[in-house]
Amino acid sequence: AQTNGTCLELTALTKLFGGYRAINNVGFGLQRGTINAIIGPNGAGKSTLFNLITGHYTPTTGAVQYDGRDITGVPPHRLSKLGIGRSFQRTNVFAKLTVFENIQAALIAHRGLGSQMFSRSEAMFQRETNDVLVSVGLFDGADVPAGLLAYGEQKQLELGMTLALNPTLLLLDEPTAGMSTAETERSIDLIRRIVRERGITLLFTEHDIHAVFSISDRILVLEQGTLIADGTPEDIRANEQVKRSYLGG
Ligand code: ADP
Ligand code: MG
Repeated sequence: AQTNGTCLELTALTKLFGGYRAINNVGFGLQRGTINAIIGPNGAGKSTLFNLITGHYTPTTGAVQYDGRDITGVPPHRLSKLGIGRSFQRTNVFAKLTVFENIQAALIAHRGLGSQMFSRSEAMFQRETNDVLVSVGLFDGADVPAGLLAYGEQKQLELGMTLALNPTLLLLDEPTAGMSTAETERSIDLIRRIVRERGITLLFTEHDIHAVFSISDRILVLEQGTLIADGTPEDIRANEQVKRSYLGG
């Protein structure tokens, strides 16, 4: 699966909740270093698909491979060690810790306190934290308690906490949920810049269709658990079925 630069590969994934088929025979591979969006109406199965990839759910049938290795049902904390980063729809920052401390907490949680204290210098730790803060545009607010940040900034911090784990594959489920149009635009721009700079493979879901079309190399369209289209933004824009059922054209 690795010969063509595939990083994540889903094979015939199906997820049943009772008798309800939330994901129906979904398969695709993601090329390394590309930006990929999953779109589809509410309830289409986008979050379920993410949960299957990240081991929060076990598929009823089918498999997930990462770098040619089977990761089907491998629990989330082990996936982060393999280089798969994920952020959630709700914000997950520690309100009373500063922005700086939040990033450090993420680093420590990932690597363990011991490794941090004894095998890496304090200066290196600080530099890594600062690099992440610069990346997400929060360097100037490093000493601010996270709870005092605006909602959009908290989401940026959350992204920073995920980046601190140095992922090669990043999964973002509605990273701009609850943001204003201006915040969404800024945030999408930031995400694009970061993943391009770091060569990260991105899979994300997003309601803002304009944002999706502006940054994606590839768009996957999910409807009632089934993949109904898969292609470049141009392909998707021209797809009659997508236009009819989703883009309202
Ligand atoms: P999306 O993220 O595209 O809005 P979801 O993946 O959240 O859609 O949901 C897809 C369908 O699966 C919905 O009908 C939802 O009710 C159902 N579903 C999701 N998670 C569960 C669960 N844990 N148990 C039962 N049904 C679920
Ligand atoms: Mg969802």
